[in-house]
Parts: sequence; structure tokens; C-alpha cells
Amino acid sequence: MRSITWRLTLWYAAILMAILFICGVAAFWVMRHLLLTEAAREVEAAVAAVQKLTSPVHENREEFNHVDLDDPELTAQDESGTIWLQITAPDGRVLNSSRALGNDVLAPGYIGPPVITRLRGQKVLLAGAELAGGALVQVARPLSREENFLKTLAGVLGLLALGGVVLAVAGGWVIARAALRPVQGLIRTARQISTTDLSRRIALRGPRDELYTLAQTFNQMLDRLEQGFRSQQEFVAAASHDLRTPLTVLKSYTGLLNRWGKDDPAVVEESVQAMTKAVSVMERLVNDLLLLARMQAGPPLRTTPLPLDELAGETVQEAGVIAKEVTVKLGPVERAVVAADEYYLRRALWALVDNAIKYNRPGGEVVVGVSVAENKREAGIFVADNGPGIDERELPRIFDRFYRGDPSRSQGKGFGLGLSLAREIVEAHGGRILVESHPGRGSRFTILLPLWQQEAMTAQ
Ligand code: ADP
Repeated sequence: MRSITWRLTLWYAAILMAILFICGVAAFWVMRHLLLTEAAREVEAAVAAVQKLTSPVHENREEFNHVDLDDPELTAQDESGTIWLQITAPDGRVLNSSRALGNDVLAPGYIGPPVITRLRGQKVLLAGAELAGGALVQVARPLSREENFLKTLAGVLGLLALGGVVLAVAGGWVIARAALRPVQGLIRTARQISTTDLSRRIALRGPRDELYTLAQTFNQMLDRLEQGFRSQQEFVAAASHDLRTPLTVLKSYTGLLNRWGKDDPAVVEESVQAMTKAVSVMERLVNDLLLLARMQAGPPLRTTPLPLDELAGETVQEAGVIAKEVTVKLGPVERAVVAADEYYLRRALWALVDNAIKYNRPGGEVVVGVSVAENKREAGIFVADNGPGIDERELPRIFDRFYRGDPSRSQGKGFGLGLSLAREIVEAHGGRILVESHPGRGSRFTILLPLWQQEAMTAQ
């Protein structure tokens, strides 16, 4: 009972049964009404005929005896005896009656239109009227014929309904099964996919109906899962690879010191320097990985009004201290206050400045500036360099995790996490990063963020 096929079938059969029941009852009542109306008409006609026939003899009540109440002409009946007639005097004495009645007396005092009542052990339609001279006529018509017909009709309708329901259950089951067959296919493929590999897909066949869309959505979900799974694997592989190099350095120098370097001050000096460098590389990578994990979990941003112009000035000063072969300058700066978490935004901006210095040529220049967008809704802080630029084919990938450009240029300079972190930080602030690059002439990265006033205005 838990399968959709059965549930559909049962619903279908239940609804059909209800429809058949309502139709059957309606047909039965219409038929009954028609039959009773017809019978009532016959009874009224018989009353009228007796009234007409007896009017000339009203002077003498005894004359009522001579009326032939069994005359088929009178009752307009083809079978005599199906209508009973009786004429009574005002005192209730029976003056004349149909032969079929024998000594029985029909409700002698009743005057009125046809009503259903019980007489002589059966259901009848009874009507009565006054005749000339105060006499009364009663006409009764047994309803056994109608009752039998209606009983048969009810039986036939009941059987038909039962047959209809059996057919509906069988037909409904076949139709529901056929309609849901593609779902079985879907389930089978989905099971195989989960037990074998993520690269399998459901074959898209048939009309573009709901099931087609379901299969399509399922395939798209698998695409995303597979992609996520693969990038997870790549991520772990890349992170382990990057950690292995400094670890190897550490291991070889500890071995060197252990074996024979402890007493040689030159070896100790070299080892300590190399090990410190390796540790700081690991520290940087672990910090980046930690930040990445935090960004994925949704960083707890504490946004405050942050003046971009001041941030640009401070960053240029700090970068100037570190950069040895590259000049870092403050470019055109407009006053712009944005809503941002200072710690995170500094890290994003630093990733851009760090790249602009790292990938520049000796004697190159890095310019940091701030401008407010024309729409007065956002402001941008840009970092421009006149380094080698980025190849057009590389541009779409530079924001990917662990993506490093041309090995000849980027070897050993970074882990390929800087830009992806910067983008995640900026997007978490509701902003975006734009990049323009001209190979041979330099690149320009811009962080666009909503202005603080704009934020305050939308919050109202
Ligand atoms: P990394 O930590 O290796 O610098 P990023 O994610 O910051 O990683 O950058 C990815 C790649 O984009 C770099 O390896 C480099 O090839 C390229 N790139 C980024 N910024 C610049 C730039 N200012 N000039 C030239 N190439 C750049």
C-alpha cells in the first residue's frame, strides 16, 4: 500500500466509485419520480372518469350500482384489476367497487390528490374525490410494478458500479504502473551511481515532461557533486603537496644537525635560517587554509564604516617597507566610506598588493587608489601594476583555489590561494572584484564595495 502505484489506483477507484454512486442514485431518483408521476396521472384520470360518468345519475344514489367499475375504458388500463375503484355513500356505506376488491373497503373517507399509502398489504397510490350527490369515489393503484422495476434498476446500477470499480482498479493500476515506469529507471540508475561512480548520468529520453526535468535536475546535481568532489580531492592533493616541500626541508636539516652539524656553527646557522624559512612558509599556508575554511563556513563579519582612502594610504606605507625592487605609490584617492570588516578587507587588499609586487619586474611600480563609482552606490579600491600582465586564457582561472599561473613566473611565489581568498572575502561583503590585464603592460585589480551611506539607506 505504500507504493505510489497503489495509492494512485486506490484514489482513482475511490473517486470513480463516488462518481458512480452519485450518478446511480440520481438515475434511480429520476426514474422513480417519472414512474410515480405517471402512476399519479393514471389515478387522477380514473377519478376524473368516474366523476364524469356519474354526473347524470346524481339524483339517485342507487344508480351508482350500475356503473361498471371494471370497465377498462373507464380506467384507461389495458390489464383490468390494476386499478381499484370504490364508490361510497356519505355515511361510508360501499355503493359499488371493483371486482378485484371483493369485500375489502378502501379508506372510505379520503378526499385528496394521490398519496402513497399501504392498503391490502401493499404499497398503493390513493386518491379520492366527491361525486355528485355527496357520494365519494376512491381510486387506489398498487405500485408493485414500479417497485419491482425500481428494485431491478437498483440491482443493475449496483452491479454496473461494482463492475466499473473493478475495471477502474485494474485499469488504474496498469496506467499508473506505465506512467511510473520511467521513475523505476531513475531509481535504478541513481542506485548504480551511488554504488559505482559519480561520473554516470541518467539517459535523457522521451518527452520533455516532469520526469525528464527530474532526470535533468538530478544530472545537474551530480555534475555539481562530481565537480565539488573533484575539487576537494585536488584541494587536498595541492595542500599536502605544498606542505610537503617545507616539511622535507625541515626533516633534512634536522637530520643534518643531528648527525654532525651541532658543533659546526656554520651548519647550525644555515640550518636555523632554512628551517625558519620553511616554518614561515608552512605558517603562511596554514593561515591561508584556516581562513579559507572560515570563509566557507560563513565568516563572522563585523562590519563597521571603513574609510577606503585611509586604508589605501596605510597599505601603501606598509607595502613600501616590504617591497625592495618595486615602488609602491598612492594614486588618485577619493573619500569613500564602505561597510566592511577591517581585518578581512585588509587581508583581501593585501593579497592584491602582494601579487602586484611579487609578479612585477625589478623597477616596476604599484599604484593603489580609491574612486567612487558614478552611480554613487559603490566605491572601488584598486591596485595597478606595470608588470608582465596576465594572459587572456589565464584570466578566468586566476581566482580558482591553488591556481598558479605560468610556472616560470609564479614558481615558489605563492600557493595560488591569495586571489580565491580575496574574492570570497569581497563577495561575503556583498562586493565584487574586477580585473583588467594587458600582457606586457600590467594588471589592475579593483575591489568594489557598497558605500556605507548606501548600506544605511537600504537598511532603513
Ligand atoms: P599566488 O598565491 O600564487 O599569488 P593567487 O591566487 O594570488 O596565487 O594568484 C593566482 C595566479 O594569478 C598567480 O599565480 C599569477 O600567475 C596570477 N597573478 C595574480 N596577480 C597577478 C598580477 N598582478 N600580475 C600578474 N599575474 C598575476
